[in-house]
Amino acid sequence: MSAAPIRAEVAVVGAGPVGLTAALALARAGVSVAVLEAEQELSTEWRASTFHPPTIEIARHLGVVDAMLQAGIVAPRYQVRDRRHGLIAEFDLSLLADETDYPFRLQLEQYKYSQIVRDALAAHHPDAQLRFGCRVTGLQIADDHVVLETADGPVAEASWVLGADGARSTVRKILGCPFEGLTYEHRYLVLSIDYPIETLMPGICDVNYISDPVEHLLVLRVPDVWRVVVAVPPGVPGDEAVSDEYVSERLRGLFGEAPGLVLRERKVYAVHQRVVDSFRHGRVLLLGDAAHINSPMGGMGLNGGIHDAFDLSVQLPAVLRGEAEESALDLWAQRRRKAAVETVQEITHRTTTSLAEQDEEERARFRQQTAATAADPRRAKEWMMDAAMIANARTYDLPPRA
Ligand SMILES: Cc1cc2nc3c(=O)[nH]c(=O)nc-3n(C[C@H](O)[C@H](O)[C@H](O)COP(=O)(O)OP(=O)(O)OC[C@H]3O[C@@H](n4cnc5c(N)ncnc54)[C@H](O)[C@@H]3O)c2cc1C
Repeated sequence: MSAAPIRAEVAVVGAGPVGLTAALALARAGVSVAVLEAEQELSTEWRASTFHPPTIEIARHLGVVDAMLQAGIVAPRYQVRDRRHGLIAEFDLSLLADETDYPFRLQLEQYKYSQIVRDALAAHHPDAQLRFGCRVTGLQIADDHVVLETADGPVAEASWVLGADGARSTVRKILGCPFEGLTYEHRYLVLSIDYPIETLMPGICDVNYISDPVEHLLVLRVPDVWRVVVAVPPGVPGDEAVSDEYVSERLRGLFGEAPGLVLRERKVYAVHQRVVDSFRHGRVLLLGDAAHINSPMGGMGLNGGIHDAFDLSVQLPAVLRGEAEESALDLWAQRRRKAAVETVQEITHRTTTSLAEQDEEERARFRQQTAATAADPRRAKEWMMDAAMIANARTYDLPPRA
């Protein structure tokens, strides 16, 4: 027998990191909330692993920052390198100490963040419902409520629906929203390596962006392993890119002969840059990857999604209590789209194309300019205010300053 339909003020579709953040933030604001997740449990897939300062500040507002700091690695510096020329520049985030209490990147796998948020929801908001095995397939949208359906029939009724169901969002497809943008020619091969990579690449930091006209890459440390995210050129088929031969060749090229190097995971991802036409469609709001996706170079996709969720959790309770007009949600939708396009997409695209640049003169200019920026504390700070998403978050008072 299927469970009784859920009633809640807000139904969140998708228990990814963005949906769970929205649920926790709304529950803390006194909103009754239900999360419907298609799978039987939270995903443990490794994807995002960087939390920028404004996101850590949001986590403090949500009461989960201590658990995150305990589980993650504090990375106060990051490097930009060139595969042929070596170190180009090192950026020291402590230059941001007068801007934030968290002048670093926190390296933490996104699935651990999801678990921390889920645990906080269960511990402090037992009325919040989290239902697994509940794949939403339809929405019946009325003037004052929405009925959510699965293949078995109606599953929930809510005043507002948040579509946080990821890049292939069913909610977005039900609404018929275009998701325009581009797909990059290259893909990324993600490798998880159980080996002290710092002994093979002396002098590297916990986060390293490495330019190369053929195979640019990101080398970063997460609590359990080192991760390498390396570009796969357009001509290489996906199954070849995960083959033993191809992977071994990449590892040899990067680290030389390292017989003890244990590979825990390998996966190939296509890379897109897309944004939905509007984040609000009446009673249905889209956020996180359901609304915008971008290159992982810069570590901003998940952070931007968490910012969407937190901002919405400030607006929606006021609308529900009649303290704000619904137009507050239109303004939310506009500023979050602007943030996705003008900050996240702009910076991640620029980072990706600079790292992948083919033209030797352009590559030399990139090295020279990046080194000069890092060497000048004023310019370095300005650069990091953008790269750490602080400039954008402050534009929108996110999180609200006391
Ligand atoms: C290789 C890689 C590296 C990345 N690195 C970074 C990084 O360093 N920093 C960063 O900020 N971002 C990064 N990202 C992006 C980041 O992973 C995503 O932005 C993030 O997962 C988005 O979270 P989400 O909750 O919006 O969506 P998802 O994590 O995709 O979660 C969506 C959830 O919805 C569920 N769902 C789907 N359909 C339905 C349905 N019909 N009904 C109910 N539930 C449904 C899914 O099962 C899933 O649990 C990276 C991505 C990749 C691929």
